[in-house]
Amino acid sequence: VTRIFRPEAEQVAAELIVGSGNGLFSVVRETGFTCETCATPIPTGRGLRWCVPCLDHIRSGLPLADRVGSLIYALEDDSQVYKIVRNYKAEAYRETDLPRLMTAMLALGMREHWQCAMKLAPAASHGWAVVPSTRGRTKLRELVLEIGAPPLQEVALRYTGAVGGGRALHPENWALEQGVVIPEHVVVVDDSWVTGSNAQGVASMLKQSGALRVSSLAVARVMRPGFGANPEFIRSRLAGSTFDGHRCPWTGGECPD
Ligand SMILES: [Zn+2]
Ligand SMILES: [Zn+2]
Repeated sequence: VTRIFRPEAEQVAAELIVGSGNGLFSVVRETGFTCETCATPIPTGRGLRWCVPCLDHIRSGLPLADRVGSLIYALEDDSQVYKIVRNYKAEAYRETDLPRLMTAMLALGMREHWQCAMKLAPAASHGWAVVPSTRGRTKLRELVLEIGAPPLQEVALRYTGAVGGGRALHPENWALEQGVVIPEHVVVVDDSWVTGSNAQGVASMLKQSGALRVSSLAVARVMRPGFGANPEFIRSRLAGSTFDGHRCPWTGGECPD
């Protein structure tokens, strides 16, 4: 990957590798090897293109995000990266490194690759939203604003909880705040992606409300090390690899021209 960052971003990337206990792995995008939507490992040699949850989303017939970007894998439950994405919002971790490391990851994904999302989804108007916390926490939105997302482009959302949790897609669990005008393209930011039901539910709602394009950025793709194709993937692809912050979260490789 040939992309070069501004010096301060290079420093952020280097700091992140140390702060995450060297357990930071860039997302791998490879057809037939990882899910075309969420980049989770899938069983190889069977002509599969998606993981089971993403296939369920597609089969629902609801409109989905046009593109899902991710920066890193977070291995459950004891990796430092997983601890960061899981706990950075919690009051008990406020004085630790976790919020700062989460900010660094968001900054790499959003600041350095913001234009990439715009290039991949040409539109007359762009905006951003965060997936609202189902527990009313506002930390992610604060961090996104802190790293410089333009406040006037925010598409403010709330969690209605109309249908509740679970793996299925429920656009009605999410709503626009009153008076919000939807731009043609919305980048939806979340800290982590487990089944993707929340992020895709938000994408569905936005499209049903008039957005033409939705790009979904999940900082971390959460992965259970012992599940399905994961152990082999970790052994053959992640072990010994190093995080490369220049790798585009949207393409898994070079940034778009
Ligand atoms: Zn998937
Ligand atoms: Zn990029």
